[in-house]
Amino acid sequence: MSDFAFDIVTAGELLAEFVAERSGQRFDAPGRFQGPFPSGAPAIFASQAARMGARVAYAGCVGSDGFGDLILERLNADGIDTTAVRRDAEFPTGTAFVRYRADGERDFIFNLAHSAAARLDVDDAQLERLAGCRYLHVMGSSLSSSATIALIDRLAARVRARGGQISFDPNIRAELMADPAVRAAVLARIDDCDIFLPSEADLAWLGGDEPEAETVERLLIEKRMSLLVLKRAARGSEAFMLDHAPRRVAAYPVDERDPTGAGDCFGGALIAALAAGKSLERALALASAAGAHAVTRVGPMEGCSDRATLDALIASHGGSR
Ligand code: ATP
Ligand code: MG
Repeated sequence: MSDFAFDIVTAGELLAEFVAERSGQRFDAPGRFQGPFPSGAPAIFASQAARMGARVAYAGCVGSDGFGDLILERLNADGIDTTAVRRDAEFPTGTAFVRYRADGERDFIFNLAHSAAARLDVDDAQLERLAGCRYLHVMGSSLSSSATIALIDRLAARVRARGGQISFDPNIRAELMADPAVRAAVLARIDDCDIFLPSEADLAWLGGDEPEAETVERLLIEKRMSLLVLKRAARGSEAFMLDHAPRRVAAYPVDERDPTGAGDCFGGALIAALAAGKSLERALALASAAGAHAVTRVGPMEGCSDRATLDALIASHGGSR
């Protein structure tokens, strides 16, 4: 039916994550952590999409250590093509520690810059193979070093040349945006993407004092994007297109145990559904269910779900399949 080898290609950080067990637990005192869990925003996205049946390929880099084994085993178990995941002999797998403050805000300690994650490299033959995809999905968190920025630029240009589309979730982390090269790379991806998936905080970062509705309209008019889906956590999401009324999607009421990964699962489900030819309405319902399911499990990728789980969640709230 198609001449695309993959529905979705993603590239970027792979890491092992440790989650503080207790809300309010500190980093400057001993405490208990659960983990290692496989993680990395593009990996969470990829796992969600693959579990829904999308043909997904990943470009990344892990160390020659147990954390690398853990991550590769997970990606392979989900059926993701990991031919372009390198194992670095010298640098260890990237890590992250996360803790939740009493008010629900998160703090992270990342070791990515001095890990295998920063040694992402794909040869020309692999790049050409990966470029045969319906969608390239980029995470802003992956645009964190000159090497990954250059690699994703090259991949994006080839995907475009082969007729694929680009989706972008800015996943803005303020501390990374202090670097002018990172900031420029994020803005360039916003200019160039077809589908833009910001959170409310991402959009506020972009718009400054501008009212949200004006930022949305300006992006749709001035940029290439044809679809913008704004993620509002427990308040659901909203899809915007030029010349269409905005489409509001309610969140499914669930018991939130760990918010990490909701946005990535939402995006993975949305793009997997669109790649499978689903209507936008159906794709948004699946995405909303995937985001809701994600927060019910502790660990970044532990809440990724298959179609049957999502269909059951939608049906239990009166939706159709
Ligand atoms: P992340 O922290 O992973 O970067 P994000 O900020 O990109 O997340 P969110 O808005 O937090 O994205 O979550 C994405 C979607 O997941 C929401 O639009 C909503 O549909 C769903 N979701 C998130 N949190 C909840 C919740 N507590 N209950 C129900 N659905 C939720
Ligand atoms: Mg996000």
